[in-house]
Amino acid sequence: MTDKQSSEFDVPMDRSRRRFVGGAVASAVIPLMAIAPAQAQELEQLSEDDAMAKSLDYKHEASDVEHSSYKDGQTCANCALYRADAAGDGWGGCSIFRDKAVKGTGWCSSYVKG
Ligand code: SF4
Repeated sequence: MTDKQSSEFDVPMDRSRRRFVGGAVASAVIPLMAIAPAQAQELEQLSEDDAMAKSLDYKHEASDVEHSSYKDGQTCANCALYRADAAGDGWGGCSIFRDKAVKGTGWCSSYVKG
């Protein structure tokens, strides 16, 4: 077999490999997209009495915050670490409190301007 013949055989194999890999990636991503909103809705609401919440001065209502780094208008809902309120109940995910939902009107000292 010459080099030219070999490359002619490689083209169809490349396309079929790409189709296979693309299909495998789509098969892996689509179920994750379907699961993610359900998990966000099932998060337990963070308590202000939670040890980590206390250490970060978390409050459900930003208006109750008495912290030197707090600035008017800052809330979980406009924090860069907040994940959308998937359940529509005013509570969303947070990259800091990963297994709990935080209140959109809340605030903690890890606030990052969104
Ligand atoms: S990191 Fe942001 S979203 Fe999470 S609790 Fe603190 S202010 Fe709210």
